[in-house]
Amino acid sequence: MDGKPLDNDLSGVVEADRAHVWHHLIQHAGWTGPDAKADPRIIVEGKGMRVWDQHGKEHLDAVSGGVWTVNVGYGRERIANAVRDQLLKLNYFAGTAGSIPGAKFSEKLISKMPGMSRVYFTNSGTEANEKAFKMVRQIAHKRYGGKKYKILYRDRDYHGSSIAAISAGGQDQRGEQYGPFVPGFVRVPHCMEYRAQWDLEGEEYGLAAANAIEEVILAEGPDTVGALCLEPVTAGGGVITPPPGYWPRVQEICRKYDILLHIDEVVCGVGRTGTEWFGYQHYGVEPDFVTMAKGVASGYAAIACCVTNEKVFDMFQDDTSDPLNYFRDISTFGGCTAGPAAALENLAIIEEEGLLENTTKMGDYMLDQLRALKDKHKVIGDVRGKGLFLGAELVADRSTKEPAQEKMVQAVAGDCNAQGVIIGVMNRSVPGFNNTLCYSPALIATKDDIDQIIEATDKALTKVFG
Ligand code: PMP
Repeated sequence: MDGKPLDNDLSGVVEADRAHVWHHLIQHAGWTGPDAKADPRIIVEGKGMRVWDQHGKEHLDAVSGGVWTVNVGYGRERIANAVRDQLLKLNYFAGTAGSIPGAKFSEKLISKMPGMSRVYFTNSGTEANEKAFKMVRQIAHKRYGGKKYKILYRDRDYHGSSIAAISAGGQDQRGEQYGPFVPGFVRVPHCMEYRAQWDLEGEEYGLAAANAIEEVILAEGPDTVGALCLEPVTAGGGVITPPPGYWPRVQEICRKYDILLHIDEVVCGVGRTGTEWFGYQHYGVEPDFVTMAKGVASGYAAIACCVTNEKVFDMFQDDTSDPLNYFRDISTFGGCTAGPAAALENLAIIEEEGLLENTTKMGDYMLDQLRALKDKHKVIGDVRGKGLFLGAELVADRSTKEPAQEKMVQAVAGDCNAQGVIIGVMNRSVPGFNNTLCYSPALIATKDDIDQIIEATDKALTKVFG
């Protein structure tokens, strides 16, 4: 592609979009009223790290499709061909049957996840998490007389958009106006050292944050707590990397109280954090559930999975005399074959192109560059992340850590956008904390791509904050 989109028929598209599409996360008033300021952005094409909009403008995508999804980049013929071939052979069959790509992909995925053994197909991160929540509830009924039904979730974490998932959501504003919530979800404190809750540092901080989970368990009653659901690195809550010592203690606590550990890898999964396939694998954690979505097929098809170990699976198979002793659940589009066909190629690309290694290399480079920006711009209070999953938190004052004003943070993202670089602003759902610039370029990013992203951010920070 030479910088402008191919011959796309765009006639009437913007008008149709304005009239009929209800966009995610948007207040439409400014678009559709008499004072309409801007056209909706229509992304028309993508290749590699870049996308083109309806005006033919090229953008370097530093957020992998907006929300950490297109891990292998745009325009992968190999995935498109695999999906096309599969669709012509068999597009769909659900219920109790399996499929060729479903079986092959499951085998390949499990080979990357020692200790795990079963893949349950769904279509979104939310739904994958719901499946795990349902399994926990059913285990409580089957094994513990319904008692061990509570699911712990962490402040600032996010697990999806359904009513149950926002009941398990640690970002209050996302839930406002959608209550009443599902009972049985209990919040534990976050582990973010930059906005510390304890006057401790490093490993001591990590242990304190993990011990705070134990306190909640003891207060609730360990025999009422069935599972703990956590993101390995919190994404939308502000790109929060766990402090040292945190994860081993979390694992220990789960074992001590017989609590199932559910890791939400919807963002971190499939290479995003570098070196390892999954975020939890950096920390030596042995989960019972791992849920994943975005990067599983890099957005070439909708596919998400709830992966369990054999211990969880067996709990649903052990009593064949009981007619209710199976997971009474189905997902219509869990039977689409395009998902696993795309996902299989996606994994092969990551392997063959060494993208886990590239992610670590480029992620380390980008982290260094962001740290250099922090030395230059006082407005950057903290820089953090893992692999190609990074955040720069903007503050009005470094000593008090008062968050930078949201409109200024948005102005930085807006200026980057005007320069042709799409970056994200995270944590917009926590009042007063909507102040983290977010970067998650595709795992194919090169040094030149990173330099372009950093340069745009540098210029935007200078323009907005001086
Ligand atoms: N878990 C996490 C950590 C997420 O960030 C998201 C989405 N951003 C979800 C779950 C929900 O995924 P989906 O939007 O596919 O339902």
